[in-house]
Formats: sequence, structure tokens, C-alpha cells
Amino acid sequence: MIKMSVLASGSSGNATYVESDKGSLLVDVGLTGKKMEGLFQQIDRKIEDLDGILVTHEHVDHIKGLGVLARKYKLPIYANEKTWERIHQADKNIPLDQKFIFNPYETKSIAGFDIESFSVSHDAVDPQFYIFNNDYKKLSIITDTGYVSDRMKGMIHGSDCFVFESNHDVDMLRMGRYPWKTKQRILSDMGHVSNEDAAYAMSDVITGSTKRIYLSHLSQDNNMKDLARMHVSQILNQHDIDTNKEVLICDTDKEIATKIHTL
Ligand SMILES: [Zn+2]
Ligand SMILES: [Zn+2]
Repeated sequence: MIKMSVLASGSSGNATYVESDKGSLLVDVGLTGKKMEGLFQQIDRKIEDLDGILVTHEHVDHIKGLGVLARKYKLPIYANEKTWERIHQADKNIPLDQKFIFNPYETKSIAGFDIESFSVSHDAVDPQFYIFNNDYKKLSIITDTGYVSDRMKGMIHGSDCFVFESNHDVDMLRMGRYPWKTKQRILSDMGHVSNEDAAYAMSDVITGSTKRIYLSHLSQDNNMKDLARMHVSQILNQHDIDTNKEVLICDTDKEIATKIHTL
């Protein structure tokens, strides 16, 4: 059994809660400690019950509340070596006895899960995301990548549930108010995937096991929930994936946690 909730998602902060029958974990702490406590209240869980925090990369929308939560609740923190260097630069006071190394392409057993890590293409020092396996259920989280490689697809293939980046609508981004350099960064292989990119990648990794996709990390300026859902559904439908019956496309929000879902 896996239970999960996308607590918050978007450029203003990311955090996802995962739970097995043996424990629970948080992936990223991209909001303030206070906001994180509010999000845990929304899903009727307690931060002190967590078995640890997994960090994907050092961007502030993923680690903003990390130090505060770590000190207050004394939680073990897992990140790869290069990311740890950046975390220490951002927050000098993270207790070293809470530091654990989780490098790319390792598998670790934590809180009842077998967790696999994999590298992504994004402009951080060594960004990685995670796949949670428990009791023949598989949840893949990937919310910051410029493109989805065949190696990534091979690893996340056939997940029961995906938390998947659907960052921007390409036309909205092109016509929008961002400076040219920022647009280039987002559109590059080291930036974020668009609604279309996400859908085409999804069409390669969805199998009969896949029941649900949470579209995540939506840009506040260059995307809309309805638009993202519509574009992704259209492209999946073209690939004979029925988004009315077989695979549910779900929204995420920057401040409202998704209801606890059981895989
Ligand atoms: Zn990032
Ligand atoms: Zn991010």
C-alpha cells in the first residue's frame, strides 16, 4: 500500500507526502516551516511522525523550510553528496547527525519503501528524483526536468501513479512577460517540461497499471490548470489512453494539499 498527497506544487514551493504501512516520508520542503505545518493539518498528519525528508535539489522552491523542519523535528535528511554541499551553503546550521547520503541510481529501504533515485536534466548541481515501491505498488515523482530521457522513462515506466511536471504552455511562455534569458532557460534541456512534453513522455510510460497522474510544478505565469489538463488529455487520447476511465489526470495546487490517495 502507498498513500500520498501532493502538499504543494509550483514555483512558489514543492512538497509531497508519501506513506506506507510502516512509515512516512516527505519529498522536498519548498515552503516555510509554518506553511508546512498548515499543509500537514490539511491532510490530518503530523510532521513529528515522519521518518525522514528526501531532497531532490537545492533550488529554494524545494528546500525553503528544510532547515527549520530539520531542527524542530530532528528528522533524518537524505540528499546526494553534491546537493548536500549546496544545502550546507544555504543553511549552515543543519545538524550533521541528521545528514544521510542518497546518491543517484541507488536503492534504499526507508519507512517501508524501496526507494530508487535517478538523475534528471535541470539547472541544479545534481538534481535527482525518486521512485517509491511498496507491496507491488509504484509511485514516481519527477517535477523539475528539461526533458525526459529514455533512461528516466525506463525507470518510471508502468508506475501506478505519477507526480509529473507539466510546467508551462509553450505559447504562453513565448508571448509572456519573462525576459528572453529566462524564457530560454525554461525552454532548454536544463529547464522544465511543457504540457506537451509531459504528455508525450507520459504516453511512453503509462501502462495498464497506471491509474493516476498529478500534473505538477505548473508555472503561475505561463500555465493554467484547465489548459494543462486539456492539453495532456488530448495528447494521451491521441495515443489511445482513455483519460475519462483508465487514467485520471489530477491537479495540484501551490497551497492546497491534494486529498490523501491510496495506490
Ligand atoms: Zn528546480
Ligand atoms: Zn522547482
